[in-house]
Amino acid sequence: MLMAAFSATISDSSRFLSSTSLPKRKISASSPRCRSFSLPKPFPLSRLNICSRLERGKSFTICAQASVSDISVEKSMGKVNLPKGDMWAVHKFGGTCVGTSQRIKNVADIIISDDSERKLVVVSAMSKVTDMMYDLINKAQSRDDSYISSLDAVLEKHNSTALDLLEGDDLASFLSQLHHDVSNLKAMLRAIYIAGHVTESFSDFVVGHGELWSAQLLSYVVRKNGLDCKWMDTREVLIVNPTSSNQVDPDFLESERKLEKWFSQNPSKIIIATGFIASTPQNIPTTLKRDGSDFSAAIMGALFRARQVTIWTDVDGVYSADPRKVSEAVILRKLSYQEAWEMSYFGANVLHPRTIIPVMRYDIPIVIRNIFNLSAPGTKICRSASEDVDGQNLDSPVKGFATIDNLALVNVEGTGMAGVPGTASAIFGAVKDVGANVIMISQASSEHSVCFAVPEKEVKAVAEALQSRFRQALDAGRLSQVAVIPNCSILAAVGQKMASTPGVSATLFNALAKANINIRAIAQGCSEYNITVVLKREDCIRALRAVHSRFYLSRTTIAIGIIGPGLIGATLLDQLRDQAAVLKEEFNIDLRVMGITGSRTMLLSEVGIDLSRWRELLKQKGQVADLEKFTQHVHGNHFIPNTALVDCTADSNVASCYHDWLRKGINVITPNKKANSGPLDKYLKLRALQRQSYTHYFYEATVGAGLPIISTLRGLLETGDRILRIEGIFSGTLSYIFNNFTGTRTFSEVVAEAKEAGYTEPDPRDDLSGTDVGRKVIILARESGLKLELSDIPVQTLVPEPLRATESAEDFMKQLPQFDTDMAKERQDAEESGEVLRYVGVVDAINQKGVVELRRYSKSHPFAQLSGSDNIIAFTTTRYKDQPLIVRGPGAGAQVTAGGVFSDILRLASYLGAPS
Ligand code: ADP
Ligand code: ASP
Ligand code: MG
Repeated sequence: MLMAAFSATISDSSRFLSSTSLPKRKISASSPRCRSFSLPKPFPLSRLNICSRLERGKSFTICAQASVSDISVEKSMGKVNLPKGDMWAVHKFGGTCVGTSQRIKNVADIIISDDSERKLVVVSAMSKVTDMMYDLINKAQSRDDSYISSLDAVLEKHNSTALDLLEGDDLASFLSQLHHDVSNLKAMLRAIYIAGHVTESFSDFVVGHGELWSAQLLSYVVRKNGLDCKWMDTREVLIVNPTSSNQVDPDFLESERKLEKWFSQNPSKIIIATGFIASTPQNIPTTLKRDGSDFSAAIMGALFRARQVTIWTDVDGVYSADPRKVSEAVILRKLSYQEAWEMSYFGANVLHPRTIIPVMRYDIPIVIRNIFNLSAPGTKICRSASEDVDGQNLDSPVKGFATIDNLALVNVEGTGMAGVPGTASAIFGAVKDVGANVIMISQASSEHSVCFAVPEKEVKAVAEALQSRFRQALDAGRLSQVAVIPNCSILAAVGQKMASTPGVSATLFNALAKANINIRAIAQGCSEYNITVVLKREDCIRALRAVHSRFYLSRTTIAIGIIGPGLIGATLLDQLRDQAAVLKEEFNIDLRVMGITGSRTMLLSEVGIDLSRWRELLKQKGQVADLEKFTQHVHGNHFIPNTALVDCTADSNVASCYHDWLRKGINVITPNKKANSGPLDKYLKLRALQRQSYTHYFYEATVGAGLPIISTLRGLLETGDRILRIEGIFSGTLSYIFNNFTGTRTFSEVVAEAKEAGYTEPDPRDDLSGTDVGRKVIILARESGLKLELSDIPVQTLVPEPLRATESAEDFMKQLPQFDTDMAKERQDAEESGEVLRYVGVVDAINQKGVVELRRYSKSHPFAQLSGSDNIIAFTTTRYKDQPLIVRGPGAGAQVTAGGVFSDILRLASYLGAPS
């Protein structure tokens, strides 16, 4: 479903900005480099940018604009003025950074070693504590009295951390506060338990305790190191207004006033502040909602006009995609504010989405750093992200990818919508009335339908509201339906340069198509900072990996399943083993064998089988073979976007699965002739499916092993040549036999010699019967467009009639000499006319026929010049009419057949986007 995007409003940062209450700047007497001025209202984004740039540009003209009334407010307070500006460094430590007593000590070390003049540190609750607090509330509210033991666990966690970190008076005073808080909480939770209900402000009060305790603990530890440090309960400073959508808007003006007051009473060079918590204008405790500590830090950064806000977490920075979902994600060294905002909005939870807004106003850079890897420089988020950092191409049009799960699409459709003003307003009015959050909107330019994504949990109410709002239109048929498509996810590509780079969406959609992923809706905001697609939830991770590898790694990764580790399969596995590293390093192709299955045992791997040990692993770790389970494993492995099953058997049951595999988006590669030489209708269905889909089916090794026969034929046909005739020696065994049947030995002696040398099947009748050649002829005939069945090809067998029923191969070999005279006579007759005997297959495209038989060729004919077990194939076409196009070379044997299969795998990789 391709739709013209109709403003994905969520990516419109200017709208977002204008909803934030922005204060007038005040002058700061102690920060000569950071003067302030009153911003005109309203603040369009463009104006705001200019203002911010000027401000950090330290322009003197700006000093002149400082508001006189601002100065008087500060002076009239008559206390310690709050210095603002570059002397402040803001650090924020996430939950994992303060997860244990040892980690809290590390955090203290980082604070101490930062040589900034002044430091404001924002801390989250110890890791898991906020979850534990929410859990307490849920339990109490559902009258589950285990909330008591859960609260004890919270108490114990902080108690034991304090015992590890503190001693003497510090310890006593922290524990006394902790016990006091916990006994209050117990009373509160009891009340919630009795009421069986909790209000938002009760809940916010309870959950914010994690931050209160972690901030106090950390401040004790910093003070213990002899530094001047105060802790700040940010409920006394940060004032926020709740908004309707589970968000809060900071009141900067009021917060700034409170901060100045707080600072005048607690002047200090190091402040440890609680993240996450704040107060309403009525002084009621509230929170900045889940993961809100990043936002706290950004607000603090803005209030202090800090030099930088450093967000310490457990990853090296912002990755190009969630590292838990894409193992190859790379760290982005620099992001623009808009890019970071889009990434976080679309699910990169390394940063709270609203973090950017306050710092962007003052051009304060944010740096994301890993507390567990201090050597990593992290990601810098700032205004312009275009200059180069350490060779990383910052101009890459797509910076990163993120996903949002648990969405549903709502599609409002009907001919009565076209050209009717107010339809969109009525739709979204109804959605607003139920308080649902619209994440993406798309409208086809025909105006026939509007579709939008909302959180899955809100979709029922949305659908009901729309049904009722449009009852009349639905009844009258002006609207045909309000449909809900559940189980969707959003995948967003983010990057500032997408706006000016053609072809970005083509590449994105191409990568999705190649991974056989269906797109349900599309939106690209006018800002073009992002392209958003809606997909089935189950496809989401695979889609993320497909697009990520397409844009970021330019590495083509294919999950491979090998069916039949017999002679050819095993040789292929060994060839893959020997070549894998080169392919990865030099050609950017990453082939991972995720499974190997024989008829009895199979070996599955989550990350790729170690091919240097596959034989022993198959023996040791093999499980009972089950082709369905095998397929599911190899294809269901969402961490690799593309799958190929390689059928190295000669089994028609396996071949009968190809259609189903292609339908599922699994590419198929095989030397097995059964599918292409089987029933014509099935063959035609398979080829039709292959043509319609982006899924590939390659079978070069079915004819002539590794020789380029199918591809040569294809090349001729596709360039408009017409096949007149294909004639060739397609059997390595029969080639060997007739090349050596020169009159020096009897026919049976030559057959025995070929058997001895391993050129024949265990029972040479399988070769002499000619059926295998018949299959090759039918494959080429069909490839040339002839609609023939195998039974339409007359095959001359070289197995004498009386020996066809002979039990064993040995008996056959014993009796074969009885027929030597017949064969000797044929050879002799040929010899006398200057000819040789050759066993050939022929596709006669003019007469729409095929045949396999023993023929005589003049000694000067190319077929007479063969040696060993070579194949030779002559294509006579309209272009190659006088002299046929000839392909010649070894056409049998495990090495060359496996090589043919391998080259099909590489062809697949290049079809999937590997560089050539
Ligand atoms: P903290 O508790 O420090 O705030 P979070 O768990 O909120 O930490 O955020 C950090 C986590 O975000 C990382 O551990 C990572 O798993 C996840 N994450 C998701 N998307 C991204 C991304 N694009 N880049 C980095 N981290 C990401
Ligand atoms: N502790 C809060 C939470 O887990 C806030 C934060 O860590 O950012 O949601
Ligand atoms: Mg976080």
